[in-house]
Amino acid sequence: MFDALADRLEDAWKKLRGQDKIGAANIKPALQEIRRALLSADVNLQVVRDFVADVEKKALGAEVVSGVRPDQQFVKIVYDELVEVMGETNVPLAQAERSPTIVLMAGLQGTGKTTATAKLALFLKKQERNALMVATDVYRPAAIDQLITLGSQIDVPVFELGTDADPVDIARQGIEHAKAEGIDTVLIDTAGRLQIDTDMMDELRRIKDTVRPDEVLLVVDAMTGQEAASLTATFHDQIGVTGAILTKLDGDSRGGAALSVRRISGQPIKFVGVGEKVEALQPFYPERMASRILGMGDVVSLVEKAQEEIDLADAEALQAKMMEARFDFNDFLKQMRLLKGMGSFGSIMKMIPGMNKLSGADIEKGEGQLKRVEAMIGSMTKLEREDPDLLSRSPGRRRRIAKGSGHKDTEVMKLVNDFNRMRTMMQQMSQGGMMPGMGGMPG
Ligand code: GDP
Repeated sequence: MFDALADRLEDAWKKLRGQDKIGAANIKPALQEIRRALLSADVNLQVVRDFVADVEKKALGAEVVSGVRPDQQFVKIVYDELVEVMGETNVPLAQAERSPTIVLMAGLQGTGKTTATAKLALFLKKQERNALMVATDVYRPAAIDQLITLGSQIDVPVFELGTDADPVDIARQGIEHAKAEGIDTVLIDTAGRLQIDTDMMDELRRIKDTVRPDEVLLVVDAMTGQEAASLTATFHDQIGVTGAILTKLDGDSRGGAALSVRRISGQPIKFVGVGEKVEALQPFYPERMASRILGMGDVVSLVEKAQEEIDLADAEALQAKMMEARFDFNDFLKQMRLLKGMGSFGSIMKMIPGMNKLSGADIEKGEGQLKRVEAMIGSMTKLEREDPDLLSRSPGRRRRIAKGSGHKDTEVMKLVNDFNRMRTMMQQMSQGGMMPGMGGMPG
């Protein structure tokens, strides 16, 4: 996702690289490139204009920060602007004081509304909340069946009264049912049309006036670009929405909708759909999205993921060791296992800046290499692991390790050389203030 936008933005600041100061003249081509990138990502024209103007103003007014290159500073300004346009922070799903919380799901047909309803139900379930899905699309029996099927898939109850009942009644009775069953969230799936029409809006308004939802979520399709943004604005004007769910983000390489929705409608994107499976729903975080758009790697997610897996003190100790070049093979093994514990090698590597273009073959190679390195370290003695220099000096030791791990002498030699090089690099990186802990992998 966002490949096109990321690449073009990258071109934008390449134009600034090597210049020692941001100035009115050298910034023009970069701004031009941003403008082009956003337009080709189908971002709304007014949003593009404001974006470029704001970036220009901030870039020209930016104080020179010592130790930071102008292109880096420029990237930061663009990043901040992206975050701002998308609404700064995540706006979580409402939770009413009284139970149940009522969520009305609206949207055009085919946008993924029914799927999103089930996704949201599953999301709530994972948060120890429980949901009831209510099927009010009486015009399409298939829509009710679809909700029932999804409900049984994720083991979430569905309330329906067939196709003869009035949608408003179904919604009302659904809520009563939830109250009786002690269910804390009611998700009302409503009828969608291919286009906005007065019948659809009237019906939505009637349901809304009756059930007084805590949340009205509009489901919009990311592939429709700026259309998604104007649709959100229209729905908000006509019935009042509290947020949007942007679906099919996985299928949209341009990503313009994520940028336009908030600015055009004033309403936050609360969730994004990233696949057809019921698990494929994520809360929307402007900062993470900005990182992805910029192709800088999703560093925030990486760090959070790492924190889930490991003790912080451990990570800090590792980092301190890296900076002081005390990093040894034990630490290295720990770091590798830590990385492995965080998920597949591929998904981790993709989150690292500059690594998002790895191919499947690269990743497989990396995973294989990881195993070989682990085997070789496994054959080292305690002393050798703690003092990597021992191995640089002693061919005998290297031979023993090669034999023990089933590798060639040259492979062990290469590991030792690469390890030393990595250690030097990490040290330089830490001193340069870059992200520590993700040094290149020997091999
Ligand atoms: P509704 O008419 O708005 O209720 O739409 P559906 O929920 O039936 O979804 C329409 C189609 O979009 C289905 O084929 C879904 O599998 C697909 N879909 C929904 N959400 C996503 C998503 O986030 N990513 C992808 N790739 N497909 C999705």
